[in-house]
Amino acid sequence: VHRIPSRARYDRAFIDAVLDEGLVAAVGFVHDGQPFVIPMAYARLGDQLFLHGARASRALGVGASGAPVCVTVTLLDGLVLARSAFHHSLNYRSVVVLGAARELTDPGEKHTALTAIVEHVLRGRSSEVRPPDDKELAATRVLALPISEASAKVREGGPLDDEEDLSQPCWAGHLPLALMPSGPPVGDGPQAAPPAGLAAYRRPGSVVPGWARSAVQPPNPR
Ligand SMILES: Cc1cc2nc3c(=O)[nH]c(=O)nc-3n(C[C@H](O)[C@H](O)[C@H](O)COP(=O)(O)OP(=O)(O)OC[C@H]3O[C@@H](n4cnc5c(N)ncnc54)[C@H](O)[C@@H]3O)c2cc1C
Repeated sequence: VHRIPSRARYDRAFIDAVLDEGLVAAVGFVHDGQPFVIPMAYARLGDQLFLHGARASRALGVGASGAPVCVTVTLLDGLVLARSAFHHSLNYRSVVVLGAARELTDPGEKHTALTAIVEHVLRGRSSEVRPPDDKELAATRVLALPISEASAKVREGGPLDDEEDLSQPCWAGHLPLALMPSGPPVGDGPQAAPPAGLAAYRRPGSVVPGWARSAVQPPNPR
C-alpha cells in the first residue's frame, strides 16, 4: 500500500532509468531472524539486476540460497525547503525490487554480469582494463535478481505549503542535487591519462528534473 499513491510509478522504462542512473543498492534480507540492509554496487542488464562480492559475503550467501531479498535504489534529487517545518521534504526517485535471486555459476554468465557492473560504474571501462581471470571469477559470487516485481516512486518540484503559510517571511523553494565529482581525478602512480570525460563524470540520464543539462556545473575544485 502506498501512502501517497500519486507518487508511485510502475512503468518499466522509469524503473530501468532509475536503476541505470543509481550507483548503490541497499540490499535487504533476513538472516537468522535478523533483518539486514547492506549497501552494494549493482548493474541492470535487461530484466536482471546483478550483485557481486566475495564468497564470504553473508548478503550474497543468503541471496544465493533463494531466500527473499529486497533491493532499493535511491536517487536524491534535491532538498525541498518549505515555509513550515512540517512540509519540508526531499526530491527523489527510488525503486524497490522484490524477489529471489539465483547464483550464476556459468563462467560466461558471470563474466557478462561482472562486465555489466564495471560498465555501470564507468561506461567503456571494461575494455580498458584486464578482465577477471578464472581464479578471480571463482572467488566472486554473482547473483541475478529478476526485475519482475518492482515499483518506483518519485517526488519532484517545490514545496507544497499550506495556503495560510504563503506569507511567511522565510525563503522557500528547492535545491536540486546531483551526483558529480567533488574534485579532479586523482591518479594512482605513473600511468596513462585519465579516461576522457572522467573529470566531468555524470551518471547516465543524471539531470535533475526541471533543470537544464547546461545548468549542471562541476564544482570549483579550489
Ligand atoms: C557504496 C558501497 C558499495 C559496496 N559494494 C559492494 C559490492 O558490490 N559487493 C560486496 O560484496 N560488498 C560491497 N560493499 C560492502 C558491503 O556493504 C558489505 O560490507 C560486504 O559485502 C560484507 O557484507 P556481509 O553481509 O558479508 O557482512 P558481514 O561481514 O556479515 O558483516 C558483519 C557486520 O558488519 C556490519 N556491516 C557489514 N557491512 C557494512 C557496511 N557496509 N557498513 C556498515 N556496517 C556494515 C553489519 O553489522 C554486519 O552484521 C559495498 C559497500 C558500500 C558502502
